[in-house]
Amino acid sequence: MDIDFISNYLLITVFCLFSIIRIEYYRRARKAGFKTVVSESRKYSIWLSVFICYEVFTFFAYINVRSLNWFPQLLTWANLDFPTWLRIVGAVLALVALGLFFWIHQSLGNNLSATLCIKDNHTLVTAGPYALIRHPMYSSFYLLHIAVFFLTANWFIGITWILGLSLIIFLRVNREEAMLLDRFGDEYRVYMCRTGRFLPPVRLMKTTDVEQPPPA
Ligand code: SAH
Repeated sequence: MDIDFISNYLLITVFCLFSIIRIEYYRRARKAGFKTVVSESRKYSIWLSVFICYEVFTFFAYINVRSLNWFPQLLTWANLDFPTWLRIVGAVLALVALGLFFWIHQSLGNNLSATLCIKDNHTLVTAGPYALIRHPMYSSFYLLHIAVFFLTANWFIGITWILGLSLIIFLRVNREEAMLLDRFGDEYRVYMCRTGRFLPPVRLMKTTDVEQPPPA
């Protein structure tokens, strides 16, 4: 078994587990029942579906290149010679992203939705990964996409997936925060001050906060 073979099957397993978590938590949120109060435009959902189709297509084009050979080889020209340790870093990142993804769904509960929306029974989640980061799900997608780059060792997949994801998130995140601000007002404003968007906030220690030594 070579490293390409192991990387491919690890990625397929991680994608399957991501999908199972997603489908199961959507099912639970739908079962709980809700009315949508505010929702996003259809145009965005179309862009998101196109991007997901692109990722599925390029991923299958890639795995055939590296091990399965079911279809014509389409992406060999972009293969890189990554060392084994970088593939291992990719595997660790993929597993961290998976664990985080599960924790996020558990924390978000019935507030989860496929498209941006505010539900009639929406509550503001500030616990779990949301205690430090406002958009941990998007952070977990970034982690997964970096992992895909290291595991596939294909620059075309790495660059286009990460750029595509950045565009999708860029188009969504401001509107998502505006919706939540509109619904939760000051509660969300205060929450924004103590959290980071995609990473935990870096709190720069002010000199006034530093404990002064007692006078000699
Ligand atoms: N952007 C978040 C959640 C993505 S799921 C993340 O990256 O983790 C999208 C839905 O989550 C949106 O409809 C939005 O209304 C809702 N949402 C986002 N942050 C929330 C929060 N802190 N509490 C409750 N719902 C939230």
